[in-house]
Amino acid sequence: MSGEQLKLLIEADHPIISIETPDEPRAVRMVRAVAASMGAPLYEWSVTEGLVSAPPVPPEVKVEPGKVAAALRHVKQAGSQAIYLFKDLGPHCKDPQVVRLLRDLYFSPDSRLWSLVLVEGTSLPPEIRRLTVPYDVAWPSADELAQVVRQTFQEARRRSLVEIEAKLTAREMEQLVQTLRGLTTDEAARIVSGAIHHDCVLDGSDLPRIIDAKRNRLGTMGCLESISADVSPDDIGGLANLKRWLNQRRGGFSARAREYGLEPPRGILLLGVQGCGKSLCAKVVASAWRMPLLRMDPGVLYQKFIGESEARLRESLAQAESMAPVVLWIDEIEKAFASAASESADGGLSQRMFGTLLSWMQDHRHPIFLVATANNIGQLPPELMRKGRFDEVFFVDLPGPAERATIFAIHLRKRRRDKARFDLGRLAAASEGFSGAEIEQAVVSGLYAAFSEGTECCTEHILAAIEATNPLSVVMRERVESLRAWAHGRCVPAD
Ligand code: ATP
Repeated sequence: MSGEQLKLLIEADHPIISIETPDEPRAVRMVRAVAASMGAPLYEWSVTEGLVSAPPVPPEVKVEPGKVAAALRHVKQAGSQAIYLFKDLGPHCKDPQVVRLLRDLYFSPDSRLWSLVLVEGTSLPPEIRRLTVPYDVAWPSADELAQVVRQTFQEARRRSLVEIEAKLTAREMEQLVQTLRGLTTDEAARIVSGAIHHDCVLDGSDLPRIIDAKRNRLGTMGCLESISADVSPDDIGGLANLKRWLNQRRGGFSARAREYGLEPPRGILLLGVQGCGKSLCAKVVASAWRMPLLRMDPGVLYQKFIGESEARLRESLAQAESMAPVVLWIDEIEKAFASAASESADGGLSQRMFGTLLSWMQDHRHPIFLVATANNIGQLPPELMRKGRFDEVFFVDLPGPAERATIFAIHLRKRRRDKARFDLGRLAAASEGFSGAEIEQAVVSGLYAAFSEGTECCTEHILAAIEATNPLSVVMRERVESLRAWAHGRCVPAD
């Protein structure tokens, strides 16, 4: 954990520095380390503790708890050089007195006497953020996380009354650290501690538990969701072209590929008819390439306060970077950036969000494979399709007869049925215009019908379900036709 940049900002006499991070303990440790390395006195303020001198000196209360205006006045009047760390000042900025005091501190001729470091769990109001220089504490590196694992283990061993063992191989330790990426050091320590106390051993069998704990943790974080990707290419019927492309690039992030002179793959856009397996493909890439899968939920990015949505997008991308190598899946990308394609209905927000995403796609140098999926091309900004953004734009069409037969076989197998007992040719012929999702649905309906009759499912049950279905390609014929026409010549067929 290097605070060199923070030290430079303080030495450059910036009066107010902001650190927006979910990892407050880490930011505090960093500020303390920097203050110690500079030999500068440090005071810390929080609404519950007041303004107190920070370690290594004994705590001495300078201003009573609750009085933020008094604490800011104290900073201004202290008259000697010091660093002041304020925790969660943002919510107090609704008070005009606090805003005025911060502006006074910023514009004061004595401003080189103090460095206010604002550590915030959420975004600062824009008028305050403008007075600050932001400092990014970044996510813990692999080395720091390895250190967290070691310390948590030693701590558990010291405090436990029973014997605690570690039986991780070097490879398992590497995987463990990889799994912990994108978490704060405290979250990582809590998850590792939970795994140790489960059976008093830290070993390879804890990895699935730790992945689950992390998934739960990220599940509550909003914009990025860690998705389980336990599917294999054999679970997809058809899409042979896409599978071949992905298979060729599976070693693309390796050092060997770099030495060979290859650029790592950056991502694909999967455009296509609903229910034909685009989401399934995102999962297959992650599982075949043994990379975690993160799904960005564009709907959750949008916030009601100006600047927050972009901050959330940047935060999500930074988090994906911290967890790299990963597959980052943006589902229904057109929904997130829809009005970027047309005249903006949201004051230019989606244009700016889209701009942020495009420049990130262009500039980032992390092993992140982006899989974007889209159903509606009309809403996609043309810049997204420009050459070089994605490695390839695939069109996922409705499956042909042979692919439909394979998809029937896959979904029968998944439900423990022997495909040899079904007439796959007839099923495929009867289901022309069906998507993979509709084929799956027909299999499920057929099984239910047979189950309610108390018999075993046969071809006839599924044929009846097909008969009763009005596929999307019929209901929305024009849309599907125009999508196909658009994709022809512009996209590479996935099949
Ligand atoms: P949407 O645009 O509605 O999100 P999609 O193209 O992403 O649809 P999926 O969500 O991947 O489609 O498909 C839904 C389900 O349909 C899958 O989980 C899978 O069970 C089944 N399915 C779709 N296509 C295929 C396929 N080619 N092979 C096997 N199963 C498929």
